Amino acid sequence: MTLSPNGKDGLFCIYCQHTNRWHDTHCQNCGARLVTQDPQLESELKQQEKTWVSPTYQALYEKTQNALPDGSLALFVSGNAEPLIFPFVRNLVLGRDAANTGEQMVDISQLSPLGHSVSRRHAAILPAPGSFTCSDLGSTNGTWLNQQMLEPGKAYPLQSGDQIRLGLFTIMVCFKATNTAVKRLTILIKGRNTLENHPHLLRPPYLLMQLSPFLQALNEMHEIMALAQGQPTRDIFIYEIQEKPNGVGINLEMNPQTLQILRQHLSPWRDQYTEFTNRERKHPATFLEPAIAQLTNKIIATLPATKSANANLHQRLEAALTILAVSPLEVARIDN
Ligand SMILES: [Zn+2]
Repeated sequence: MTLSPNGKDGLFCIYCQHTNRWHDTHCQNCGARLVTQDPQLESELKQQEKTWVSPTYQALYEKTQNALPDGSLALFVSGNAEPLIFPFVRNLVLGRDAANTGEQMVDISQLSPLGHSVSRRHAAILPAPGSFTCSDLGSTNGTWLNQQMLEPGKAYPLQSGDQIRLGLFTIMVCFKATNTAVKRLTILIKGRNTLENHPHLLRPPYLLMQLSPFLQALNEMHEIMALAQGQPTRDIFIYEIQEKPNGVGINLEMNPQTLQILRQHLSPWRDQYTEFTNRERKHPATFLEPAIAQLTNKIIATLPATKSANANLHQRLEAALTILAVSPLEVARIDN
């Protein structure tokens, strides 16, 4: 064993001059690989590094990326001939917890001898518009994205080909970045009639009873619009919900076109509906069903013809519109 050129006891990093602990495999300061003292470990790490530069791997990466549907994710693991493919990523946890927690999970201990350095719940990959993000979940040995150490709990944007290192274990991500027409918006949701002067909009009962079904129906509309236009389907992303003097302000990411279609078709329809219920003073079911069917057809007519000829899409649209149409809430304003 030798001392570092700076006189300190430990493994010296030739890239950043940091002195690391003897058992470190990567520089704690810059993430560079250090030559380790353990021959067995050294050979396993070399094996892993060789994978990513081999021509076989490069060809497989390109082939996979071309074949992947939009919004799907592939994870490459050294020593495994085929990547792991995830058609729908919700909250993909990377770790070594075999217990069935109902989470979408990759058990690293089953994949690599280097898996022992991975925490039970080490890191997570989440979908973002047109891409994905990675966060460290407070792991013992840390998560690195290429040469950058991740601050626990913070989401870092991923690019296809990025390497994520969990302790000693490295995984490579592969996906097709898509250019979805999703924007960050602020919408104001406001109550009609009875809720006009509701004093405590952000109380849990109100959020659960009124806002939650409304947002779910909005999410459904967002998905239907994407499907009809042949785009990848994604959930809407909500960043912030705040009480405003005249409604609930919601900062979210979604397709602004969906909101425009709703405002254009739904608002006039609701005026008619309110007028009808006020005039007739009877149960509006007789009016509701045929009117929603008409409204659905009107909206379907605005969508690209080839993709929208789908009975299931029609049914889903009708169901979402019914919730939005009879809700005491409505989208009052859109800012971006
Ligand atoms: Zn270093």
